[in-house]
Amino acid sequence: MVRHGIGADDGSTADDRGTTRRRTLEGAAGIAAAGVIGSAGSASAADQGQTRQDGDLEDGPLFDTHCHLIPEETLGREPLSADGLVAWMDDNGIDRAVVLALDSPESYPVLASSPWILDQVEAYPDRLIPFCSIDPRTLVYGEDAVEELLERYVERGARGFGELKAGVPIDDSRAERIYELCADYGLPILFHTDEKAMIDEVGLPGLEDVVASFPEVDFLAHAHGWWAHVAADVEEADLGDYPDGEVDEPGRVPELLGRYDNLYGDLSGISGWNALTRDPAFGQAFLEAYSEQLIFGTDYIYPGQAVPQLELFERFDLERSAREAIRYRNLEDVLR
Ligand SMILES: [Zn+2]
Repeated sequence: MVRHGIGADDGSTADDRGTTRRRTLEGAAGIAAAGVIGSAGSASAADQGQTRQDGDLEDGPLFDTHCHLIPEETLGREPLSADGLVAWMDDNGIDRAVVLALDSPESYPVLASSPWILDQVEAYPDRLIPFCSIDPRTLVYGEDAVEELLERYVERGARGFGELKAGVPIDDSRAERIYELCADYGLPILFHTDEKAMIDEVGLPGLEDVVASFPEVDFLAHAHGWWAHVAADVEEADLGDYPDGEVDEPGRVPELLGRYDNLYGDLSGISGWNALTRDPAFGQAFLEAYSEQLIFGTDYIYPGQAVPQLELFERFDLERSAREAIRYRNLEDVLR
């Protein structure tokens, strides 16, 4: 286990994420053995320490499904403005970015409220795509109050709901009322699940129930609790951690992606990168097998943050259609 300090999956220092263990064959072979894909996958560029040489990395636009704006210094991190985010996108070849609201105390020490996010992105309508969020506990004010807020956010341009990161179970009845409203308004939901927010048990039974119960809602799954389940071997402590080591047996992530086409994996954060790189050959096979349900993202949240996902298309050798799906097509689909 690799233990990290504060910051959870919202931009913890990516100290040791760049190095991954060499693997043998179990991960990719395990996926094949489980019947998820037909072959063990090609040897990955990551495995061989190579980068793509064909000069064909221009696969249409690059969309980032997970960015933030932060109004105040916190955790020793400088604030992040819309100008700062767009300058960083320009530096890194990112064409458009989803900007997520943070409306729950579990989300971040400083909130980035939905009305504030909608204000901040106005200067960049062609670059920044706002999402809104409402903490499910706001239902203490009644359903009408919550629906009125959501309607206003949608009228002001919110294209999705997130980051849903509230200290309630993922299948809490209040959260389910939020999912119903998102179904009514046609909003995809990006959620963060770990041991503190949108809480679930090992094996993700609550998440499966939610995804099965709201087939008209596209769910974008993010953070430790989700990504720990690329492997079958998950312990309670992994729900808030970055488990490392080879993926001997594929877990609930590939299983659920295979079962539900309204479920997507948000590749952002240390958790997303860890899931791809803890066992690079598994990561390669996983990206190939589920490219139609995986979405590029970074979780960029403070100036100067290291973002390993920027290497994704050099580390992993993917067919053009898979690259296009992960870079922009899947996000376009969920935004409708
Ligand atoms: Zn985030």
